[in-house]
Amino acid sequence: MSYMDGKKLEYKGEEALKELEKLTAKADEVQENILKEILLRNGETEYLNKFMVGSKDVSEFKQCVPVITYKGIYPYIQRIASGENSSLITGHPITEMLCSSGTSAGEPKMMPSIAEDLDRRTFLYNLIMPIMNQYISGLDDGKAMFLYFVKAEMSTPCGLPARSVLTSYYKSKHFKCRARDPYNDFTSPDQAILCNDSNQSMYCQLLAGLIHRRQVLRLGAVFASAFLRAISFLERNWVNLCNDIRTGQLDRTITEPECRSAMSIILSSPDPLLADEIEAICSRRSWKGIVRHLWPRAKYIEAVVTGSMAQYIPALEYYSEGKLPLVCTMYASSECYFGVNLKPLCDPADVAFTLLPNMGYFEFIRLGENGTLLMDVDEEEEAPMDKLVDLVHVRLGCYYELVVTTFAGLYRYRVGDVLQVTGFHNRAPQFRFICRRNVVLSIDNDKTNEEDLHKSVTKAKKLLEPYNVLLVEYTSYAETSSVPGHYVIYWEIKHCTSLQVESGTPLMEAKVFQECCIAMEEELDYIYRRCRAHDKSVGPLEIRVVKPGTFERLMDMFIHQGGSINQYKTPRCIKSNAALKLLNANVKACFFSPRDPKWNP
Ligand code: AMP
Repeated sequence: MSYMDGKKLEYKGEEALKELEKLTAKADEVQENILKEILLRNGETEYLNKFMVGSKDVSEFKQCVPVITYKGIYPYIQRIASGENSSLITGHPITEMLCSSGTSAGEPKMMPSIAEDLDRRTFLYNLIMPIMNQYISGLDDGKAMFLYFVKAEMSTPCGLPARSVLTSYYKSKHFKCRARDPYNDFTSPDQAILCNDSNQSMYCQLLAGLIHRRQVLRLGAVFASAFLRAISFLERNWVNLCNDIRTGQLDRTITEPECRSAMSIILSSPDPLLADEIEAICSRRSWKGIVRHLWPRAKYIEAVVTGSMAQYIPALEYYSEGKLPLVCTMYASSECYFGVNLKPLCDPADVAFTLLPNMGYFEFIRLGENGTLLMDVDEEEEAPMDKLVDLVHVRLGCYYELVVTTFAGLYRYRVGDVLQVTGFHNRAPQFRFICRRNVVLSIDNDKTNEEDLHKSVTKAKKLLEPYNVLLVEYTSYAETSSVPGHYVIYWEIKHCTSLQVESGTPLMEAKVFQECCIAMEEELDYIYRRCRAHDKSVGPLEIRVVKPGTFERLMDMFIHQGGSINQYKTPRCIKSNAALKLLNANVKACFFSPRDPKWNP
């Protein structure tokens, strides 16, 4: 029987767990069948025909179809977005384009998606509760306060929806018409989740969560950054929220009719006692442990806390007094959903995802220990086709870059994630997420690589020229100790003194550095600018000017720690506390971006 049997994708509870056992026990067979089925269904596409004319053979696929990055598929995506037939890349109608948080030429990458992808995603979501139930009992005896949000939606020139994978899911019947069971009893009404105005959505979701505070057993958001943003929003808005609860009247700033009507049901009568309780908790001087005080029955916080989100673990621990497990349940992307964490209560540092062999066809490029490519292949180019390893043939402890082939029309596509094999569940490998290839800075959905950072610094430093000031060195840091986090760029500058005395050279003012901040931001990619200007999930970029000689001291420090002088390169992003301390101790002045960068939906 086919592993893509629609019935099996609908499995829930115990049945879903049994299916997981079967899939992982026969991971090799399932993978082979998935690839055969993809080739059977998509063999006639223009894309595959270019490389394996008329053949649907698995071994020919492996020999002839190139390993690509977005550049390799982009022309086809563009043609489909403009109205050409989906059969360019897939045997199914493409129903939407999913905008990933990765960007290409400054625009979000668009990933093709077909109707049945929603079944595959739902299959993975349906595994989460059965897995959790193995470790925590009684989760059916209350509600979940999950803060989910939709993002602005666009459409392609031919009218296909272009939106984020989560927006697509929340707007689908799979989510909206889900069978009600005790495990998907959310405090947030769907209308609040689906509200396009993120402030109104957040307000209503927090209000609903506070009203049901004594029933809430599970807390969470997709990413740790979003959960912390909710706490910061609560800090600014708890007085109004309490007021609504006290009077039974929804704040007038909530204007979305659907939200208003959904919230009027929850906020049916004044509850001054509840308002007093919440007020007493929120007016404490310290918000340490606030999450546990507000939601005393909560058993865990669910959010992605791996990869770049690991930087938020200390803040989450602070707000939960380290007493609530941080649960990271899944690993997924716009291209394909990948896997689940079968030990959800493990330490965030030990999280490993078991790849589900029925999600797509997975291959792996072997990497060196620190995630560097072992093969002679450009970061952005094709990798040798014959050097890929199958899912069941990856080796314990080794590092790989994930490559995926999907029903929707991606073939041997480099996802860009670096993973390490940490174990096996039956025959399916388990991976620790190491990093996104190349990304140096990330606060929320933004992912800035070294090249983008360099480009934006290059643009900004031009503004120093009229002042005869040179940028000598720079590095960066993702500052997340306050919410929202922001990019900090350390600059060491040099006044060209001989020129400075020349008459007519204007004096540097703070305004110039502020203009440099905004110049950098305007040069950063679409997703960064959206996070800044629209989502407000990233704060204004900051330039910290350091004293002359600071970067030399930084180099001395790294060399003192065993680095080689010959090979020393200024790190473009600072990860070590000691380096950060050194830089911060030498800061002469700080400047922030004075306005939001331009962003067009
Ligand atoms: P997007 O393409 O915007 O859907 O983002 C998908 C990317 O987010 C993945 O390729 C990963 O780099 C990252 N990601 C998703 N899930 C996780 C996770 N559990 N831990 C770390 N990174 C993740």
